[in-house]
Amino acid sequence: MKNSDFFIHETDYPDFNGDRAVEHLREMLRFETTSYVDTSRVRYEEFDRMQNFLRETYPHVFSAGETERIGHSLMIRIPGTDPTLRPALFMAHQDVVPVVPETEDNWTHGPFSGDLAEGMIWGRGAMDIKEMLTGILESAEYLLTSGKSFRRTLYLFFSEDEETCSTGVTAAADLLKKRGVELEFVLDEGSGDIMDAADYGAPGICACTVGMYEKGYVDMKLSVHAQGGHSSNPFHGTSLGILSQAIAAILSHLPEAHMSDSVWETLQKLRPMMTDPVMMDLVDRKDEAGLLHWFLGRESLYHLVQTTAAPTMIKGGSAAGNVMPQDMEAVINFRLTPFDTPQSLLEHCKALVDERVELSLVQQIGASRPSDTGLYGYRMLIPVLEHYFDRLVFIPVQNRGATDARHFECVCRCVLRFGPFLEEETIAREGIHGTNERISIRAYLQGIRVLTGMMVKTCIEAADGDDGGSL
Ligand SMILES: [Zn+2]
Repeated sequence: MKNSDFFIHETDYPDFNGDRAVEHLREMLRFETTSYVDTSRVRYEEFDRMQNFLRETYPHVFSAGETERIGHSLMIRIPGTDPTLRPALFMAHQDVVPVVPETEDNWTHGPFSGDLAEGMIWGRGAMDIKEMLTGILESAEYLLTSGKSFRRTLYLFFSEDEETCSTGVTAAADLLKKRGVELEFVLDEGSGDIMDAADYGAPGICACTVGMYEKGYVDMKLSVHAQGGHSSNPFHGTSLGILSQAIAAILSHLPEAHMSDSVWETLQKLRPMMTDPVMMDLVDRKDEAGLLHWFLGRESLYHLVQTTAAPTMIKGGSAAGNVMPQDMEAVINFRLTPFDTPQSLLEHCKALVDERVELSLVQQIGASRPSDTGLYGYRMLIPVLEHYFDRLVFIPVQNRGATDARHFECVCRCVLRFGPFLEEETIAREGIHGTNERISIRAYLQGIRVLTGMMVKTCIEAADGDDGGSL
C-alpha cells in the first residue's frame, strides 16, 4: 500500500493554485542554504536572496505581518483580531544539510536543480524541510488573499541553522519569553511515520505517528588511568579490564523503564482496534509491569519506555599481547526518556562502576517536556489529519529525532512535531539527509491542504483554546 492511497479530499480549496505552489518550491530548492557547523562556510547571501524571493512571492503575508530578522532567521507575526487568544506558531527551517562531497553525480537531478520530473520536485530540502516552509507561506498567503481575517495571532518562524547549532530558534524563543508571549501551540517538522500497529497488538491497522516530545542526548566518557606494565602480573586488573567491566555493568543495569503518559495514550487510542488477546488484557488491567515486558522485547517499541545506551567509542589499548595498556577511554551514547536527566544518569552510572573509572558528560541535552494530548493544538490537529488521511490512526509518540521546536517549550505547553508531507517511506529514507531528495507533487499539495486546514481551524474559526492552563 502506498502512502498516497490514504489521501482524501484532494479537491478541497479548488481555487488554490497548485501549479504555482509547485513552481515556488522549485525556486526555493535552487537557493543553496546549506548549514555548516563552521559558519564561515555558510553562504548567507543565499539566505538573503531566498528571503527576498519570499517577500516577492508572498506579498500579503509580508504586508499583513510584522517581520523581524533574528540573525538570518525570520519571524513574521500576523496579528489576530482577538488579543485574548494565545498566538499559534507554525515553523520550519531554511537551512539544509550539505550534499555529501563526491555524491553529486549520484543525483538523478542536481541537488539544487529544482527539477520537475516523474511527478516529483527534486532537490536538497524537498523533504527536509523547504516543502513545509513554502507550504506554510502558501497557506497563509492563500487565506489572506481570499480576504480571510485572522482571529488568533499567527506567528511564522523560519530558523537558519536547525541542522547545526540552533542559534536562530534559541534567540527567537528568548525574545518571545522576554516579551511575555505565551503560545497556544507550535507546529514543526517531525514524525509522520506510517506503520502497521501489529507490535501494539493491532495487526492490520495503519498507525501514523505524531511527535509529542524528544528524548534527551548524553555522551558519557569513561576514563581509566593506569601505568601499564608486564602482563604476567595483572593483580590489580588492567585498564581495559576495568573499563570493560564498567561498560558491562552500565549496560546490564540501565535506569528503570517507565510507561509515560504518551505511551498510555497511544495504547488507549489503539485499544478499540486491538485483536491480540495478550495486549488487550495487559491494557485493560493496566498491567504496567506486563506492558513494560512487552515493550522491552520489541525493536520498534523498547526505546519508547527505556533510556538506551550504546557504547560507541574506545581509545587506548595495548600494542602487544604481553603489555598491559595504560590510560583508556570509552564513550557511551545515551538517549534519555523524560524520566531521566543527564545528572541523574551520571549519578546512576557512578554507583555502578569501580571507583577507578572516572565518568564525565561530554555532551548533554535533557529530554523535552512531553506535550499533552488534552491540549488545544493536538485536539485541533487530529481532526484535520483525519479529514485528509483516510484509515490512518494517529498516535501520539516520541519524535524520532531532535527538532528546533523544543526551544519553544519555554513559551508553549503544546509543541507538536508533525510534517504533514507524507511521502513514501522508501523515497523519504533515501532522500532525507541522503541522495535524490525529492517530493511528489501529490504529497506536497496534500501537506499544504493540511496546513491550510489547521490555520483555518485554529486562527480563523479559532475556537477558544485557553483550556491548557498556563506555563
Ligand atoms: Zn529538518
